[in-house]
Amino acid sequence: MFKKIVDFFKGDGKAGENPPQGSELKPEDEKSVNLEQPADEIIEISGSELDNEAMAAIPEEPAGGEKETESKSKPNETSLSNTSVIVEASEAGTSDPGFQEKSSQKSWFARLKERLSKTKNSFVRKLGELFGDRMNINEETLERLEEILIEADIGVKTTQKIIGIMQEKLDTIKIKNMDELLILLQEIITSLVIQKDSALNVNCRPMSVMLVVGVNGVGKTTTIGKIAANLVKDGKKTMIVAGDTFRAGAIEQAEIWARRVGIPIVKAQPNSDPAAVVYDAIKAGKARGTEVLIIDTAGRLHTKYNLMEELKKIKRVIEREIPGAPHEVLQVLDGTTGQNAMMQAKTFNNAMGITGVALTKLDGTAKGGIVISIADELKIPIKLIGIGEAIEDLKEFNGADFVKAIFEQ
Ligand code: GDP
Ligand code: MG
Repeated sequence: MFKKIVDFFKGDGKAGENPPQGSELKPEDEKSVNLEQPADEIIEISGSELDNEAMAAIPEEPAGGEKETESKSKPNETSLSNTSVIVEASEAGTSDPGFQEKSSQKSWFARLKERLSKTKNSFVRKLGELFGDRMNINEETLERLEEILIEADIGVKTTQKIIGIMQEKLDTIKIKNMDELLILLQEIITSLVIQKDSALNVNCRPMSVMLVVGVNGVGKTTTIGKIAANLVKDGKKTMIVAGDTFRAGAIEQAEIWARRVGIPIVKAQPNSDPAAVVYDAIKAGKARGTEVLIIDTAGRLHTKYNLMEELKKIKRVIEREIPGAPHEVLQVLDGTTGQNAMMQAKTFNNAMGITGVALTKLDGTAKGGIVISIADELKIPIKLIGIGEAIEDLKEFNGADFVKAIFEQ
């Protein structure tokens, strides 16, 4: 099957040659191989190209639960096609003991407050310095307030909106002290970040498919691991797809997470076509009664055409295999990058149609105001926020709690 796909590589006289399988790409090669590739070399998978072999290779679901099937290589791997394999979940008791772990003594809200302290400090402290005991709010103080909000990465548009609402309110309300000002500001900001629903769409039939996208290093794989852990806790039969086939390390990292969580993963050799791996995974997932399939993807420069084309192709394969899927196109954004995250979201949304955002690394950054800006400006819900590296450090976004955590002393 993969041979057929590979035969489509006809761009530069290499027709019929396999793409480099398992070769070690040096960083400088990464650029030339993947970013400069012209659009007409991007392979298309037509309906008939990807069929029978993969299906035939999928083992029947054994009655009474999963058991190990024969494999040419490792005992817990089953071949799905020429290159894709499914690595079974670890046997009970062998998954990473760290996984169940470290239930923090502190509540989520207490940790949220603590981890957002840099954002809070930069912002609330500056407000304190601005107003002190003086509660005479005039044009000048509003201008300074505007600056402080922008410096906290709340963004120009959202800041202007906040100032506008504040000016209106000040016509009718008399602010007597700093506390009252903070209460008013908190109320205004909360009204901008409240979202109807931030729950992930994971209850679809026959299987919910979640495509996770974003530039390199934002936290995609880590977030996938955490989401999977939470789904498994909720009793969902979950499987990961190592769709970042660009680097061997990325595949390994996804596999480590799958092992930790105790769920299967579909993977292939580095540099395999990710759309074909996803195709295999969907077939396997359907055959096994998987409830949620989470697809990791590569994240090379989002400004380059090639990555977007690759992602679009993955999406087309999903759409074709399961009408209505993907049910989530989740974009992971690194909260420490501030307004740059907003730009990434817009770019990916144009190409992919994002259904939700996961904002990571909000711990240890003063740029947490980006959450407010994204919630207000981007008409895409923030579904998750990450405030650390542990599984329990990822949670559904709640706008009111987030703002409260920044304002509350
Ligand atoms: P990817 O390239 O998008 O898949 O990113 P990774 O999942 O490999 O994550 C990159 C780094 O960010 C890793 O070291 C993660 O542990 C770290 N990371 C992810 N989420 C968070 C978070 O919420 N807080 C912190 N402090 N680090 C995070
Ligand atoms: Mg990754």
